[in-house]
Amino acid sequence: MFIFDAHLDLSMNALEWNRDLTWTVEEIRKSEVGMTDKPDREKNTVSLDTMRKGNIGICVATQIARYVKKGSTLPGWNSPQQAWAQTQGQLAWYKEMEKIGEMTPITNLQQLNKHLALWKNPDLKSPIGYILSLEGADSIVTIDHLEKSHEQGLRAIGPAHYGPGTYAHGTDSVGGIGIKGKELLKKIHELNLILDATHLCDISFWETMKIYEGPVWASHNNCRKFVNHNRQYSDEQIKELISRNAVIGIALDAWMMVPNWIRGKSTPENMGVSLMQMIDNIDHICQLSGNTLHVGIGTDLDGAFGKEQCPTDIDTIADLQKIPQMLSDKGYHEQDINNIMHQNFISFLQSVWTN
Ligand SMILES: [Zn+2]
Repeated sequence: MFIFDAHLDLSMNALEWNRDLTWTVEEIRKSEVGMTDKPDREKNTVSLDTMRKGNIGICVATQIARYVKKGSTLPGWNSPQQAWAQTQGQLAWYKEMEKIGEMTPITNLQQLNKHLALWKNPDLKSPIGYILSLEGADSIVTIDHLEKSHEQGLRAIGPAHYGPGTYAHGTDSVGGIGIKGKELLKKIHELNLILDATHLCDISFWETMKIYEGPVWASHNNCRKFVNHNRQYSDEQIKELISRNAVIGIALDAWMMVPNWIRGKSTPENMGVSLMQMIDNIDHICQLSGNTLHVGIGTDLDGAFGKEQCPTDIDTIADLQKIPQMLSDKGYHEQDINNIMHQNFISFLQSVWTN
């Protein structure tokens, strides 16, 4: 089945993990034998080749670079200018992937529909389509930079990531969006960018919902019902997003799937992490909405974690193909499964883009 993954940090893997994503997952693992600089070495699950094999022909791919103020304990760049430069490097990598036919940009309706037609009969050379998104807006030095990003193909943006940001408070921080956040939202709406509500802390989330009237989705966000953490959505937040026609992508980071995960100590095996928890998250959103139109897949695989922190039934991203059968076993019908695996995010884009 054709799969839309709404959140992959592909360029971050290429440039910060030094992974050539044109290789197979196995080749990348082999190249990392003995490396200890990051906990997920040899445990990667994503490459363009493997996405092709798994029929994941379209994704939302990120630019990501945090700016941290002096004294912060979070990792990040010391100035917004450095963060901007980092995202520009990431963009350059996507452009190189385009040049060699590995990826193709999807920035408008025409490109989207052409790409969907191509993937009706894909082969092992078909390019992976990507919608460019910015995770955390700290690298937007001025509003002019957002305009420039839009010209470069940016189509979605999340104002915050972890901690307090320039434009909003993100995961594990508490606070509102301030004047700068409001200015950013105004420009996001004006440019018809998709607002990604993922990672907004509760206060920033509700402030944003109050004033923002444009299109909104949540690319990778699970439910607080299963793991009670500020990174997850309460039922009220999910209902708010449903009322705005949003689609919420369910993520595969183990700590967001089972409660009491201890980073570096817990293992997917001893915590019983499997795709079943993804099914539970999907089902919960469907129960709240009364239909299957507001949930999709936003794995975040290889988003600074690998097999040590994802479901035991995922060896590579191609294993997402196990999900349709699991949904079917739960009683979901074919059209509902199509909605969840790709159609909801596609329909969302088709409603936001006019040409
Ligand atoms: Zn994230």
